[in-house]
Amino acid sequence: MSKNFETEHPKKAFGWAARDTSGVLSPFNFSRRATRDNDVALKILYCGICHSDLHAIKNEWGNSVYPIVPGHEIVGLVTEVGSKVKKFKVGDRVGVGCLVGACTNPNSCHSCKDGFENYCPEMILTYNALYHDGTITYGGYSDWLVIEDSFAVRFPDSVPMDKGAPLLCAGITVYSPLKYFNLNEPGKHVGIVGLGGLGHVAVKFAKAFGAKVTVISTSPSKEEEAIKHLGADEFLVSKNAEQMQAAMGTMDGIIDTVSAVHPLLPLISLLKSHGKLILVGAPEKPLELPVFPLILGGKVIAGSCIGGIKDTQEMIDFAAEHNITAEVEVVKPDYLNKAMERLAKNDVRYRFVIDVAGATIPRVD
Ligand SMILES: [Zn+2]
Ligand SMILES: [Zn+2]
Repeated sequence: MSKNFETEHPKKAFGWAARDTSGVLSPFNFSRRATRDNDVALKILYCGICHSDLHAIKNEWGNSVYPIVPGHEIVGLVTEVGSKVKKFKVGDRVGVGCLVGACTNPNSCHSCKDGFENYCPEMILTYNALYHDGTITYGGYSDWLVIEDSFAVRFPDSVPMDKGAPLLCAGITVYSPLKYFNLNEPGKHVGIVGLGGLGHVAVKFAKAFGAKVTVISTSPSKEEEAIKHLGADEFLVSKNAEQMQAAMGTMDGIIDTVSAVHPLLPLISLLKSHGKLILVGAPEKPLELPVFPLILGGKVIAGSCIGGIKDTQEMIDFAAEHNITAEVEVVKPDYLNKAMERLAKNDVRYRFVIDVAGATIPRVD
């Protein structure tokens, strides 16, 4: 017998779920837990559509458990707080990113102790993961959410909720490596590979840190957008050998957001000695690692995955201070499947955001 999603928990919820690898999203009645002492409940107003959502609904990473309610760029308003919650009160703006939990004994976990819940071996993702109680987590393509207050961030009043939502995944994914690989210092020369959901906010954060920013892209057509609109200083067409040659050895670091298989050598060549190439995109197949050019320049290749909660708060506060938002196309939930189709073709500048509260909820009680 299949499980009853509507009665699994005491409180009713409504969302949009994919039921199989077709990835088609359709209305889904389910339930969420009652608010506990350390929980906040929130009414979801906006949720960004991350590329991971597309992979998940189609089981492209092979770990999807259906039905899936995706969404981990969530902004809403607090509707209820548990008795021990001090960080939020009813009515506050609140953000939820990729994580809703981590290990239960943070004192024995180096990652959690240091504020890197994102590297905790027991981190719990916002959707398609198992919560502590063994139930499945459901994400932000839904009407409301309940979460431990320590995994929610205060969402600044000055950041628009729709344009700010994507920062909760895309923003922290690029902010964190810029910070931890010391590329957040004025005067650094930072390359950004790929001008999509991640890349376009990476340009804005790197500029706000005072870096010189060069966008590296396969499409020459993005140059005007990168420089005039997003504020990059320079633009390199990765297929243009002359341009790439001229930029060799000039960059302190590169944030590589590309999630398709691509050669690393041209990027390594752009780095100064001791330069760092940081991968935040996740190609399905291993990339070829050219060792000689790494050794000869003392260069570093590293990876980075989202960020801890403390850093996510810091990122969104930094975004508020520097007026950083994502470029978004806001859509209603009835456009979700079309949005997914367009996202698969990279036909969006640069992030779809669902106006969740703008939906007519077809719930049948
Ligand atoms: Zn994401
Ligand atoms: Zn941990």
